[in-house]
Amino acid sequence: MARYTGASCRLCRRENLKMFLKGDRCYSDKCAFERRSFAPGQHGQNRFRKVSDYAVQLREKQKVKQMYGMLEAQFRRYFERAERAKGVTGENLLIMLERRIDNTLYRAGFASSRDQARQMVRHDLFLVNGKKVNIPSYQVKLSDIITLKEKNHKNEVIIDNLEGAVRRGLPSWLELDQPKFQCVVKALPNRDEITMPIQEQLIVELYSK
Ligand code: SF4
Repeated sequence: MARYTGASCRLCRRENLKMFLKGDRCYSDKCAFERRSFAPGQHGQNRFRKVSDYAVQLREKQKVKQMYGMLEAQFRRYFERAERAKGVTGENLLIMLERRIDNTLYRAGFASSRDQARQMVRHDLFLVNGKKVNIPSYQVKLSDIITLKEKNHKNEVIIDNLEGAVRRGLPSWLELDQPKFQCVVKALPNRDEITMPIQEQLIVELYSK
């Protein structure tokens, strides 16, 4: 699946939000958003232009898409599935994104960013309920057990990530057994636990036009 490969920090600056796209760098004083918290480009410091409702909705959609590392067509398909599912479309959308296995590994602390988690899944580092899963979009289910394959237990990147993950905290829907490199989905994620400032209703309005 294609993904955005440009400069991540430009995206944070463009959306005027720290989106934590680059792992440890985001928590350091090298964070570009902390150093230059204005939009990139020649007119980037002029944030006070009047913007239309459409532009606000569009930016909200772009922001969420970028946070979860998705391109338009794939994001649109998530939206269409969210619309067909029971419940509130905007919440369904966010919960589906949260349930992706790359996001789950990031939330559990195995990876320092969703991008890194996606690579780990693609490189076949984890098992789900003892079976191979190398598709980053896999939707985790209640009681799924995600385990780092034993041959990767000495992977220093993952060990460092797990130690550093304390900063971010673990969401209540996941249970991590760090010594076993294992994580259990003990509940499905709910909207309240997505703490980034997202107004999903704006995305629904945009796509409903
Ligand atoms: Fe965003 Fe992280 Fe870059 Fe900071 S370091 S601008 S939070 S991607």
